[in-house]
Amino acid sequence: MATSLHMLVEQIEDAGTTENNKVEISAACRAVKPYFKARPSAGLVRQILHHIRDGGEPHEWWGHTHTRPPKGGALVYLEEFDLPLARFRGKVWAVCPCCAPETRKYGKAGKIGWFPDEAVIRLLGPACFRSLDQGAHDNAYRELKAEKRKQQDEAFVLSKLPLLGGVLDACQQATLVAEALDEFRADLVKVLADKRFPLWDHVRRDGKLKIVQKAKDLRVSRDGNASLVDIEVERSHADLPGYELLNPAWKPIAPKLRRAGERLEAHVLTGDWRGRVANMTDLDRHRLVRSLNFSVKTIRECISDLESGRRLAVPLTVKTLRAWGVREGCPIPSQWSHDFNHITFAKEGSFSSIVRIPPAMAKELYKVQF
Ligand SMILES: [Zn+2]
Repeated sequence: MATSLHMLVEQIEDAGTTENNKVEISAACRAVKPYFKARPSAGLVRQILHHIRDGGEPHEWWGHTHTRPPKGGALVYLEEFDLPLARFRGKVWAVCPCCAPETRKYGKAGKIGWFPDEAVIRLLGPACFRSLDQGAHDNAYRELKAEKRKQQDEAFVLSKLPLLGGVLDACQQATLVAEALDEFRADLVKVLADKRFPLWDHVRRDGKLKIVQKAKDLRVSRDGNASLVDIEVERSHADLPGYELLNPAWKPIAPKLRRAGERLEAHVLTGDWRGRVANMTDLDRHRLVRSLNFSVKTIRECISDLESGRRLAVPLTVKTLRAWGVREGCPIPSQWSHDFNHITFAKEGSFSSIVRIPPAMAKELYKVQF
């Protein structure tokens, strides 16, 4: 519902140039309708929104009072509204009792204003009342936004909390995989370092295993003589899936998952959880929304990292390494093999090293439904 200044200016300019800009306002519209002593209900606000959505003129809604609001009275904004798209296309704007009671003027972010002192409702242009009473407008708008945030937060929490059990299952399952992957990675990186096997340096740029081939290049000297010279050309052998796991900046995943899981566990449904959500302060509820979103985002990222990182240890990847290691032109000639629970490798002229693959690394990773 946010309105850019640009759009507002556009609307006003259009209003000046569109014909049939004048609107005949009936006496019924102008009549004061002091029916709203108590704060109008959400149902009434919905009724107004439906009237506008269905193409009705805002000023012709039965409860609207089409008089200029007095300065200095109390004001509550109940909701914002846009005119329907068809009216935008035809540039059929609405009239505003504040500033343009008979001239079409606005289309977006109109306000449903309740004036408790007069017990009336007026449908107003987006920031029109601001020119009458800036403080009242700013306050009312701030409160409207706070109220909407509260409603959104409450709806979010009520709809998401019941999903936490499933999210925690996925988190716990992922933690098992992460513990295994963290252990595998620590072993692998240590053994590669011990053996001075610079696999990360080799793939860090693009994740590809490369070979170096000899080639001839035609060179022409300054005096015009051509000759062939030997050069070395780097060529790609294959992608190395899961190469990110070798990055020195890679952080263990299991601790992140455990922390996220602990944060979520505190909110798993017990007893009268709906009552507790309703009784939270707005700030606490908003913090809860942020904490839930953050924790779930962390879990999703961790699962995605697990999926990509563990591909380094699957038989097909080791087969790729084996073919690369013995290929002519491999800059790090080496032997690679994979059995159920181990990867074995040896740099040319060096003893074999074995890295264990904990079986839990292959466990299923669940999708996070949230
Ligand atoms: Zn106005």
